[in-house]
Amino acid sequence: MTTRTVSEWEIEFPIIKQLRSYTPLYWSNPKSTTLEQGLPYVGLDHQDIQQASDRLTRFASYLVKAFPETASTKGIIESPLVAIPNMKGALERYYDCAISGSLLMKLDNALPISGSIKARGGIYEVLFHAEAIALKAGVITEQDDYSQLFSPQVRQLLGQYTIVVGSTGNLGLSIGIMSAKLGFAVTVHMSADAREWKKAMLRDRGVEVIEYQDDYGIAVENGRQQAEQDPSCFFIDDENSKHLFLGYAVAGERLKQQFQEQKIQVDSEHPLIVYLPCGVGGGPGGVAFGLKMAFGDHVHCVFAEPTHSPCMLLGVMTDEHEHISVNDIGMDNVTEADGLAVGRPSGFVGRAMEHLLDGFYTVDDNQLFEWLALLNQSEQLKLEPSALAGIGGPLWLSEQPQRCKHVENVNPDNITHLIWATGGGMVPDSEMDHYMAKAAAALK
Ligand SMILES: *Cc1c(COP(=O)(O)O)cnc(C)c1O
Repeated sequence: MTTRTVSEWEIEFPIIKQLRSYTPLYWSNPKSTTLEQGLPYVGLDHQDIQQASDRLTRFASYLVKAFPETASTKGIIESPLVAIPNMKGALERYYDCAISGSLLMKLDNALPISGSIKARGGIYEVLFHAEAIALKAGVITEQDDYSQLFSPQVRQLLGQYTIVVGSTGNLGLSIGIMSAKLGFAVTVHMSADAREWKKAMLRDRGVEVIEYQDDYGIAVENGRQQAEQDPSCFFIDDENSKHLFLGYAVAGERLKQQFQEQKIQVDSEHPLIVYLPCGVGGGPGGVAFGLKMAFGDHVHCVFAEPTHSPCMLLGVMTDEHEHISVNDIGMDNVTEADGLAVGRPSGFVGRAMEHLLDGFYTVDDNQLFEWLALLNQSEQLKLEPSALAGIGGPLWLSEQPQRCKHVENVNPDNITHLIWATGGGMVPDSEMDHYMAKAAAALK
């Protein structure tokens, strides 16, 4: 709890009144600065990202064996970068507006193994623990071919350890699937908003799922307590983990390579603006860090949150970070965007990244369904509701480019808008049909 009342908060930050009315808004972050000035707050650097990237490379041969669907990318878990010109046209017609620059989408829904952005950080952290145990037990050295880890002996070794995580769904899927494959015992503490099919899919793979009638914060807290009592238990801490963060950050150099392959220029005259759906903050925060390290001051990152769960905006704006929740200002944290239904942000991510984020905007659930319909009609792409939040970004900035102070003086036609589509790859067809019906009904 914070020490101030709602009306005291509203006096200091008038925008809180608007947040409390659940109307979509854009907030330009006054703390946003250059990479040089912002980087010291992160406490991590290129070398940390490189180590994470190298670790993922060492595991590539294992992943090809354990998950044959990764063979086509030689065990590297990466997603396509695509242009979505038809969606740009669809948005312009629907909102009767003009969007300048080009519109791209990063399809993390198509990431192998778990079909969401969590396949970056979540899988990376499980591999980190597996490697540490295997190295210590002497079953492998860093120079070996890690496909050897795909063996009953290694499964038995890792089976003596437990991985624990609290999740709204997708982190649980990613960590549960990866841990179970390696042989770990794994427990996922799921919040009330987690979808039934995600729990069923995990149980199917031998993961223990513990359900709560409470929100994400409670699920995480229970996971943390379970792990504290047992030294052979690793708690994957969505709110504070540097491993998760670095796993996400590897996306930066990979994206830069995709831009080079597709010959898309990014420089001071051709800025890149990236729109990232934000829950607790680790996924978008880690990716944004990686992007900043890869593209420097030519990339600008904007976070998207549900109108009912603008936790990172609130934490960064008030400087209270994990000490304030949306409930503290009388908001309900209820949204169909289950991956973003987080009331209290990560203090680690907020403090690390607040100087490197350009802005935040909020999205109403109905908009998510409208965008789902438009995206499916125009580009034949289907995402889960949370994953669509980034679509609002180009609309806010084409309406008022000065919202992003770093691109004010650039020719708007030269801007590349990149919408990070964060998930939906594992959604069962019956569930997706249900989303699509809602999407059709949401269209004006
Ligand atoms: C988890 C998730 C996010 C946000 O990631 P955080 O680390 O919680 O901020 C966005 N989209 C989807 C689909 C997710 O599952």
